[in-house]
Amino acid sequence: MDFNTIIIRFGELSTKGKNKKDFIFTLARSIKRHLIDYQDLYEMKINHDHIYLNLKEKNLDLAEILKNIQGMYSFSLALKVEDAELENINSIILEQIKKEEGKTFKVHARRIDKSYPYISDDINREVASNILKNTDLRVDVHNPDILISIEIRTDGAYIFTQTIKGIGGYPEGSIGKCMMMLSGGIDSPVASYLLMRRGVELSFIHFASPPYTNSGVINKLEDILTTLNDYQTKINLYIIPFTKIQEKIYEVSEKGYQVTIMRRMMYRIAARLAKYKNITCIANGESIGQVASQTLDSMYVINKVIDLPVIRPLATYDKNDIISISKKINTYDISIRPYVDCCTIFPVLEPKTSPKDKICNLIESKADFDSLIDEALTNYEHKVFKKDYK
Ligand code: ATP
Ligand code: MG
Repeated sequence: MDFNTIIIRFGELSTKGKNKKDFIFTLARSIKRHLIDYQDLYEMKINHDHIYLNLKEKNLDLAEILKNIQGMYSFSLALKVEDAELENINSIILEQIKKEEGKTFKVHARRIDKSYPYISDDINREVASNILKNTDLRVDVHNPDILISIEIRTDGAYIFTQTIKGIGGYPEGSIGKCMMMLSGGIDSPVASYLLMRRGVELSFIHFASPPYTNSGVINKLEDILTTLNDYQTKINLYIIPFTKIQEKIYEVSEKGYQVTIMRRMMYRIAARLAKYKNITCIANGESIGQVASQTLDSMYVINKVIDLPVIRPLATYDKNDIISISKKINTYDISIRPYVDCCTIFPVLEPKTSPKDKICNLIESKADFDSLIDEALTNYEHKVFKKDYK
């Protein structure tokens, strides 16, 4: 059927009590940014349980854009009629239902404007009997081909048959901040997307080991973050010079411990930078069991060097599922571009799957890692990625 209004629902947001207003306005801003190219073609109205987009062009198709905006539970493509007289509703539905495919229908009316003279049941009955009288359609209350929803509000009646699911979660940046560890691989961009969808604002930290790693990695990160700009309009990336620390690790480490120590250093630096930026949480693309450093024993020994929580959105994901999300969000083709990362240049023959904290401490006492960490943290490079919204 035709539509001239899009009704946007928040779902989970409705449970957020006094913060709800902030959430709704954050979502509204986010919708405006995503629809910037269409800004002259709609008007936005906000109330406590919906956002309405009143379209200036009939049947303007914004569904593909709206589907990707986090914090939106669902939206309906509705025909708003200002004259909500039952007679008028009846004739419009009769005309519109011809455009629908199917043999059975159900009417679902809601009377939100309590001053409306008919209760929902009366509306249902009236509209259904009018359809039965004038078409070949039959009623099926359990599994109708066409579900006709009618919402009677103070400003008119909203009629719709199509409700589309959104990606859910919370609006952009509305939940809090996290420092995300970004490599050039497939996993960390997917983990980032899952967190952003949850309304978490991410800053990114990357450990670079020039000249072993080259600018190809940085180009990849730039492309990945520009892609993720779809979900977070402004992104900070901090590139940490990691070469000296890595060389030192390989100088003093005993067999099999290099990766464990390297990751402990990454965690320490990420946590220090996070605190410095007033961020109280770390995140990464670790997945249980994927590699030696991601066994539960390894995670314990690595995680214990910092006191910030570490979120691992992919902890239980299979690689195939991670890959299909990365294709969906368009980071896959960037992630698989060949590159040299700091793990490839310092290969470890038999990485420990059950490293011991005591041995790590012993290795780490053989060099002045604290000073190297201080030095890395004073020499990082900062880049900003912005979506070009007006
Ligand atoms: P990815 O595909 O994201 O690179 P991975 O399967 O290669 O993940 P690891 O290399 O073990 O896994 O890294 C696990 C996680 O640690 C990554 O998802 C990322 O969050 C973080 N990480 C790894 N290398 C770096 C790096 N050079 N800089 C920042 N974070 C990193
Ligand atoms: Mg990696």
